Amino acid sequence: MATADLPDTSLSAHQPYWAELRRDLHAHPELRFEEHRTAAVVARELEELGYAVSRGLGGTGVVATLPGANPDWGIVLRADMDALPIHEANDFTHASGTQGVMHACGHDGHTVMLLGAARILKGMPQLPGSIHFVFQPGEEGGAGARKMIDEGLFEQYPTEAVFGMHNWPALPAGHFGLRAGPIMAAGSRLRITVRGKGAHAAQPHLGLDPIPLACSMVLHCQTIAARHKDPVDPAVISVCMIHAGDTDNVIPDSAELRGTIRTLSSELQQKLQRDIESMCEGLAAAHGAQVEVAFFQYYPATINTRAETALCEAVIRETFGDAGTHADVPANMTSEDFGFMLEERPGTYVLIGNANAGTSAPGLHNPKYDFNDDIIPAGVRYWIALAHRYFQTREPRQPGGR
Ligand SMILES: [Zn+2]
Ligand SMILES: [Zn+2]
Repeated sequence: MATADLPDTSLSAHQPYWAELRRDLHAHPELRFEEHRTAAVVARELEELGYAVSRGLGGTGVVATLPGANPDWGIVLRADMDALPIHEANDFTHASGTQGVMHACGHDGHTVMLLGAARILKGMPQLPGSIHFVFQPGEEGGAGARKMIDEGLFEQYPTEAVFGMHNWPALPAGHFGLRAGPIMAAGSRLRITVRGKGAHAAQPHLGLDPIPLACSMVLHCQTIAARHKDPVDPAVISVCMIHAGDTDNVIPDSAELRGTIRTLSSELQQKLQRDIESMCEGLAAAHGAQVEVAFFQYYPATINTRAETALCEAVIRETFGDAGTHADVPANMTSEDFGFMLEERPGTYVLIGNANAGTSAPGLHNPKYDFNDDIIPAGVRYWIALAHRYFQTREPRQPGGR
């Protein structure tokens, strides 16, 4: 069956159930790697549909496969399941029932849209290749995708391409945004510890004040962001925490700075790290102080491959029309752990609009955020159309997959 022939009614008939399921997940949010109830709900839904379900990959990950005619030729469709440590400010009946934990990034909606696709695809004729439905834990800072890969995701589930989708409050409901190349940034944490020598506040000449030195390093970080790279290649260096001293009449021994670096490539990420390190060491040496500079690279950039992005764009144009297709959306400096999957396999990460017409929806990670249930059928339809188009237009790269 061509997906264009899939009637709207066949999806909208399921919409009340999907919306109820989404609200149930919203009311029961769980933090990264604690998605036990969520994983149980996902597994139950899939088992009721007749899927064999694998649990526990990457901690609380859930995977189910819809076998194709060639079981070794497969693609991954991926959703994330975790919530955030945010106090929900909404007062609707399905608001979070767990203090301080909230689905403020719409992963409840992503989970239900992928479950919806698993349901509809199960009732359609067999495809040439297999679809692996991957429900991953720990997207919010936990690198759950990396954990699933490290524990053998692609060995257990032969995968030729990977596809992800995130709701996007800045786009109208049901519209889609995508771009080839980087769509989200690489992110690393930065920690600078400046060690001087404490003294009486009125006798700075007897100590070595780390505070002016630390402030100078903050300003030099901004010079590095502005002057050490090509201006059309974006980068953000944000120092978000400064800690030094305990009182107003003592020069402290040390000062600590923490922040984040975002770039659209790993190469620029590494260059900025090197430049920050040498700047800090140079400034510290000039003043006779010591400095330790540490970086923790947590996510790579999310880089969509050209051929798979062209395929996704064709699917979106055909299914939702040109008006709903935002090709070449600007990249974002937020980070996303789907970048780990895209380091291993070609694929595409798309954005699905979440804003109701004429309204401006609260942004992701906002305590007033809510996933728009009206977009669930569009998300389900995208997954179905993509799976069909992929296997209709591709050949397995080599016998047995890769
Ligand atoms: Zn998020
Ligand atoms: Zn998210």
